[in-house]
Amino acid sequence: MSFNLDIPKQISIPIQADENGFTGRECPQKECEGYFKVKFGTGLKGENLPCHCPYCGHMAQHDQFYTKEQIKYAESVAMREITQAFHRELKKLEFNHPARGPLGIGISMKVKPGAPIPLKHYREKRLETEITCDQCTLQYAIYGVFAYCPDCGAHNSPQILSKNMELAIKELDLAMQIESSDLKQHLIDDSLENVVSAFDGFGREIVRVNAHKATAPDKAEYISFQNLENARKNLQALFSFDLASSVDIKDWELAIRCFSKRHLLAHKMGVVDQKYIGDTNDTSATIGRRIKITEDEVHSLVLVVQTLGKYLAKEVSK
Ligand SMILES: [Zn+2]
Ligand SMILES: [Zn+2]
Repeated sequence: MSFNLDIPKQISIPIQADENGFTGRECPQKECEGYFKVKFGTGLKGENLPCHCPYCGHMAQHDQFYTKEQIKYAESVAMREITQAFHRELKKLEFNHPARGPLGIGISMKVKPGAPIPLKHYREKRLETEITCDQCTLQYAIYGVFAYCPDCGAHNSPQILSKNMELAIKELDLAMQIESSDLKQHLIDDSLENVVSAFDGFGREIVRVNAHKATAPDKAEYISFQNLENARKNLQALFSFDLASSVDIKDWELAIRCFSKRHLLAHKMGVVDQKYIGDTNDTSATIGRRIKITEDEVHSLVLVVQTLGKYLAKEVSK
């Protein structure tokens, strides 16, 4: 006896986007398995475009990036459909042969419905930063701040630096509208600190992702940008270019001065010390007095930092 069971060989299971239209993804690389989300249709247009892991840069087709929860859900849907199909087919084979004659044995088969296989529903996770790629307009969400765009693969560190520079300018604008001179100065100081830490964060990240191009990749992972002269020396040694050559000497000195002022704010309550004078030759500063920071100075610093940032990104990725 043979049966031909009509069981589907292929089941297509749509993966739902979350309430904001984002679909979860997970990097297939064992040492990464990073979770992120993308809003399909907002970035590059085309068939079979690859996906880039925003964290490690691994590139593969989108069907490699299902999350573990999505796979479990899909398996449960498939199992339910298969058991139902199997049940329907078995049902067709039901029979009932009544007993014939006084010694006959009646045989019957009745297929009873079983409990349906439970579906393994899931919820996409909340992430920390939502980004719209400035190269391909893809909307995606990640943990942390820095990432490769899942569609076009562009690293977002230059974009994050510009965003932070915009914020610093807004903070300065706000400072100018404030009457209280203490609060005004506090905001100006704060915007200076923000510009420096944004450049430091950007610099470390852009060097880290390009560390394999350095003469000593393990050293490149640890370049700090809080002290510009040290960063310049390290970049020269590891990537063979001069960071200062992208701006004129006056602008470089302004940047050195501002970065040293940030050091005083962060570590010396803004009071001038011998090291500051030695590093900057700032003739307007007096040891033991509070350092002066003006709105114009921070405005100029923003422009210089943007130029340095562009040059740095170009040179380390060569
Ligand atoms: Zn990855
Ligand atoms: Zn992109």
